[in-house]
Amino acid sequence: MSDRDEDGSGATAAQDTQDAHAAHDAQDAVEQAWHGVVATARRTAAEGLVVGTSGNVSARVGDLVLVTPSGVPYDRLGPGDTVAVDVEGRQVLGELAPTSELPLHLAVYRNSDAAAVVHTHAVHATAVSTLVPEVPLVHYAAAMLGGPVRTAAYALYGTQELADNMLGALRERTGCLLRNHGTVTYGSTLDEAYDRTAQLEWMCRLWLTAVSVPGHSPSLLTRAQLDEVQDALKGYGQPG
Ligand SMILES: [Zn+2]
Repeated sequence: MSDRDEDGSGATAAQDTQDAHAAHDAQDAVEQAWHGVVATARRTAAEGLVVGTSGNVSARVGDLVLVTPSGVPYDRLGPGDTVAVDVEGRQVLGELAPTSELPLHLAVYRNSDAAAVVHTHAVHATAVSTLVPEVPLVHYAAAMLGGPVRTAAYALYGTQELADNMLGALRERTGCLLRNHGTVTYGSTLDEAYDRTAQLEWMCRLWLTAVSVPGHSPSLLTRAQLDEVQDALKGYGQPG
């Protein structure tokens, strides 16, 4: 079975120890990421971005995508409930079925350098998704999502069609709305993906608040003004 020598030369033992450490580190990374996925999912519920189990969260660790399971309340998820798939969607870890929105999460990982994805049905963002093809530029926070946030065309939840529509809306953006459905954001960490969802929901709430004043319509930023913000953000923390 093994082509390694068994004479106890030391080289084999050293290699085995190294392999064992690497396997242990990989397991630690998975456990830590799962803890983060569950904590972030609980946060979306605690902060009112989802009701019940109606959103989902994922994180990528190497070739694995850890994702919240379908239909299990987040407060019932523990360290032993890890659900992981490969980027093709084949289940690698866990007994519970992955979220039905798995195609949407996998599409983001296949087409970006995302390390985390958050999907919610946040109420103000979802309301705005029924009204406009693009969130009006009421605030420069749009720059944090890469520009004016688009609304992806409607398709049935859990389908590849919805994932494809989402990819179109995410071009050069880190978040979008899904028409009559909710939000998707991604980031290089779970916190970043979560914060982008919170910013998007806040911005949608702001627009709804401003447009609801009778007899007035909100002033909007121009693309040039938003580009200026994006340039400023890029230079943030750098000399000059
Ligand atoms: Zn959904």
